[in-house]
Order: sequence, then structure tokens, then C-alpha cells
Amino acid sequence: MKRAAFLDRDGTLIEEKGYLNTPEQIRLKKGVVEGLKLLQQYGFYLFIVTNQSGTKRGWVSKDRVERINRELIRLLRSYKVFIKDTSVCFHHPNERCRCRKPQPFLIFRLLLKYPEIDVKKSVVVGDKDSDIKLALNVGAKGILVFPHTDFLDVARSIIKDSHGFDIPGN
Ligand SMILES: [Mg+2]
Ligand SMILES: [Zn+2]
Repeated sequence: MKRAAFLDRDGTLIEEKGYLNTPEQIRLKKGVVEGLKLLQQYGFYLFIVTNQSGTKRGWVSKDRVERINRELIRLLRSYKVFIKDTSVCFHHPNERCRCRKPQPFLIFRLLLKYPEIDVKKSVVVGDKDSDIKLALNVGAKGILVFPHTDFLDVARSIIKDSHGFDIPGN
């Protein structure tokens, strides 16, 4: 069985910019490359799981969101970090869909597609209460990050929790 890290995009992997409109606005948060590499090295599948209701609010087009996601994935790949898949909710909260976080469907569809994942040994990392609720709703562990959190510290604590030892290094 594989472990997975279900990663929020805005405010978790990249700097929160309100609604991101162009790929040039992508700024990786501190420790993201190193932290994702570590998770990858310890066998975690990496997924991006994101709410993008800005498309329905008229702030950014669906096409733009998809371009930004592709660009983020390409940027991470240039550092040898491989995002396995992406799961996006484009709905407005008023639509009461089944996929807007903290509803579990964005993760459920990944679990259907990758049945080798053990969700109980997986983590959801995000900067919002809805990310933590999502973790509860799927039976994974939720990890909250803050604007100045170093993602490498997050990854180290995940490995410590899953493998029971400290990663050497500062
Ligand atoms: Mg977020
Ligand atoms: Zn949705």
C-alpha cells in the first residue's frame, strides 16, 4: 500500500495571492521543493487538491487555473518533484457540489483512480480549516500550515510520524 500527501495549492505550496491570475505570479513557499522531495523519497504519492471557485466568481477563467496548475507542476518537475495527479473543484459554494473542500469527493476520486493508496496512512496538508475537515472526512491526518511555515519542517514531522524517526539535518 502507498501513502499519499494531498496538498492544498494556494497558501500551502505557493504564496497566497488572493486569486492567482497568471503563471508568473507563482511563488513557491519556503521549503516546498525540499519538503516534497523528502516525502517523495519516503514513498508518498503527491497530489494537488484545490478549490478554485474564483472561476465561478468571474475572477479567473477555468483555462487560466489549469494553465497555472500545469505551470506549477512543470516548475516542480524541474526540481525533480513529481506531482502524480491534480483534483480541482471549480464550483461556487452556492452550488453545493460534492467536491468543494471539506467535501471529500476530490480525494475520493483519487482513491478510486489509485486503489493502492492507504488513506489512513495518508496526510492532507493545507492552510484552511476546510483542509483539516477534509482530512477528517476521508480518514487521513490533517496538517495545518501557516504563512511562514517552512514546508521542510512539515515534511520532516510527517516522516517522523509515519516512519518513527527523525530525519537528520538542521
Ligand atoms: Mg489554501
Ligand atoms: Zn465542486
